[in-house]
Amino acid sequence: MMTQVSIAEIVSKQRDFFKTGNTKDVHFRLQKLKTLKQAIIEYEQAIAQAVKADLHKPAEETFMTETVLILKEIDYAVKNLKAWTKPKKVPVPFQILPASARIHPEPLGIILIIGPWNYPIQLILAPLVAAIAAGNCSILKPSELAPHSSHIIYEMLEKYFEPEYIAVAEGGVETSQQLLAEKFDHIFFTGGTVVGKIVMEAAAKHLTPVTLELGGKSPCIVDSHINVEYTARRITWGKFTNAGQTCVAPDYLLVNKSIKENLLNAIEKCIQEFYSHNPAKSPDYGRIIHQKHFDRLVNLLKDGRILIGGDTNSVDRYIAPTVIDNISLTDPVMQEEIFGPILPVIEYTDITEAIALINSRPKPLALYVFSENKNLQQQVCRETSSGGVGINNTLMHLSVSSLPFGGVGDSGMGSYHGKAGFDTFSHHKSVLHKPFLVDVKLLYPPYEGKLPWLKRLLP
Ligand code: NAD
Repeated sequence: MMTQVSIAEIVSKQRDFFKTGNTKDVHFRLQKLKTLKQAIIEYEQAIAQAVKADLHKPAEETFMTETVLILKEIDYAVKNLKAWTKPKKVPVPFQILPASARIHPEPLGIILIIGPWNYPIQLILAPLVAAIAAGNCSILKPSELAPHSSHIIYEMLEKYFEPEYIAVAEGGVETSQQLLAEKFDHIFFTGGTVVGKIVMEAAAKHLTPVTLELGGKSPCIVDSHINVEYTARRITWGKFTNAGQTCVAPDYLLVNKSIKENLLNAIEKCIQEFYSHNPAKSPDYGRIIHQKHFDRLVNLLKDGRILIGGDTNSVDRYIAPTVIDNISLTDPVMQEEIFGPILPVIEYTDITEAIALINSRPKPLALYVFSENKNLQQQVCRETSSGGVGINNTLMHLSVSSLPFGGVGDSGMGSYHGKAGFDTFSHHKSVLHKPFLVDVKLLYPPYEGKLPWLKRLLP
């Protein structure tokens, strides 16, 4: 674990290393991306075991929602890096010809990446892929609430990378605060809104730009024109994967009244299909990360009427996949991000009611709409704002490297994945180049008598 002194020391060593210019070399970046890939492949089993120990997540799910996503991000960056780093020629207005203009992406410097516990590997390593691709040094602070995952990240990165290039600072709030006292060139934070504000305040003291990947209540609209079986399956998977502890999980359902009963029956069937009649015994069903979160979730179960599930066991922090209705919008379950396996259901009769409800609340990280009606899909997309939208699917948009992933408003600022990540960790430097061929004196003082010519030439 790094102490306060060693944090300052490591930042200073990284500064020295960055100044050597090594990280700017595209071949260096490509080599480091490939090294990271090799490390992840070597540690795949150890990663699966660590995530299982932290979240009771099955190896298959860790592969699908952690490891493979990072490997795909690496492959995508390796494939596109030369094109991304190449200066881009842009047009020049004729008034300043002869000249050429180019945008040169350059690395920012030292990046601080602070991660959460819910996808403890992916959410700290996917930003690292982007930071490497953009040519930066990085310090990572994984979440102390997923200690096994945090430690495996430390062990793996320490084995493969020099700390002056990539370092891991394990620890909790105190470590985070010590890191935040240092000056970085960019801070990439994934976590809750409350801590996001603390991070942004600390960053402001150094004028450090931030990317905030936050959470919120992601609504899921279900229209009556759907394939009920597929809709139920996709919602059940999106909601109860990782026991609902997913930042883009459908937080609550807004269901067309005419389809509600059919849908809920189908969801009940899916829960049994996925996790058996007793999900507590299922090897594929997760646990709540921490007693504090468990207690908070159990408290939310007091709201409304339980339709499906509802069982809890505090010994192993188990909460059954649960569906509730009869809730009021002022109940705690509809006020805070649930971040657990509780799915409230609200009915609507006209889509405008669902849209109005969404628009009366902070902008969510994700919004899902299930419908075969193209007009309705477009109306929802056009009339609401959210970090991302999934039409007839859940969670999957974040696995598409060509789609920027990030929030808007209360759900965050900035984005990453693929080119968006590269752009986040790069400064796009404008370079205008003029040859010595001619020099138009009209631009220079003395100005007397030049205004009519300037008016003709410049607009
Ligand atoms: P959190 O905000 O409690 O913690 C995130 C990180 O901040 C941890 O590394 C923690 O050590 C650190 N931290 C905590 N308190 C701090 C403080 N006072 N000062 C400085 N650092 C501090 O978040 P969490 O509980 O780990 O994760 C859950 C939240 O993250 C949810 O709100 C979820 O929606 C959000 N989330 C967002 C995304 C996304 O991609 N947008 C992904 C996953 C989780």
